Amino acid sequence: MQSIFRTVVIVRAKSPYVAVVLVALLLAVAASGCVSTGAKEKVLVVGTSADFPPFEYKNASNGQITGFDIDLIKLIAKKMGYDRVEIKDMDFDSLIPALQAGKVDVVIAGMTITPEREKVVDFSIPYWEADQAVLVRKGSGIKVSSVDDLKGKKIGVEKGTTGAIYVKKHLGNSSTIKEYPTYVAALEALLNGQVDVVVLDSPVAKMFSKKYSVEIVYTIKTGEHYGIAVKKGNKELLDGINKALKEIMNSPEWDKLVEKYFGS
Ligand code: GLN
Repeated sequence: MQSIFRTVVIVRAKSPYVAVVLVALLLAVAASGCVSTGAKEKVLVVGTSADFPPFEYKNASNGQITGFDIDLIKLIAKKMGYDRVEIKDMDFDSLIPALQAGKVDVVIAGMTITPEREKVVDFSIPYWEADQAVLVRKGSGIKVSSVDDLKGKKIGVEKGTTGAIYVKKHLGNSSTIKEYPTYVAALEALLNGQVDVVVLDSPVAKMFSKKYSVEIVYTIKTGEHYGIAVKKGNKELLDGINKALKEIMNSPEWDKLVEKYFGS
């Protein structure tokens, strides 16, 4: 840098105007980081919806987004040669549009692979299984032993999810369905009595029932599989993700990750 400034000083002596332009250019280059880092950083931009513990959530003490999916995508990105991942947090139903618009490279958000979604995005191999659980307030006395028992109830769901799609399809005419932008909002509605039940993915319902005064009273066996989504046709990225994901799932790293977020 010193020698560059010396050059500028020499130029300045000859023409003050040229010197001013040169200094401005040098400052711009230095500010852009090109001078210090040399090569461009390889960043994987990841979309998620951080209200779905233990897959993705905000750490209570520092507000940082963490979770099983976040660690997993960081491991995948590292294997694929990325320098870092950048996490973009948004409502669940904004994730697929963000992918389609190229605002994010991948989506990892406990997202169920469904035929409808497969029409608009491409999914990785499955990495987790889930059903839909029925969550009630502890001590509410609500008993559910079949989907029919939910008729006439006020049901809270998260907009755009498989849980929301399921209850709308099966109970749309017989129950009041309230859609919330996040599961945290649906959970709050349950806790303060605005809804009778919340229908959501079983692993997340289990987490909520450990932390809050709610309990699972029934599980709808929907047999869902989670996948990582990429923009439709982005084969190169998807192949890389699948290769890395397979390697991780067959290694002790996977067991460590499962233990970290699901261990007792
Ligand atoms: N697995 C559900 C779905 O894909 C819910 C995911 C979520 O809320 N993050 O719709």
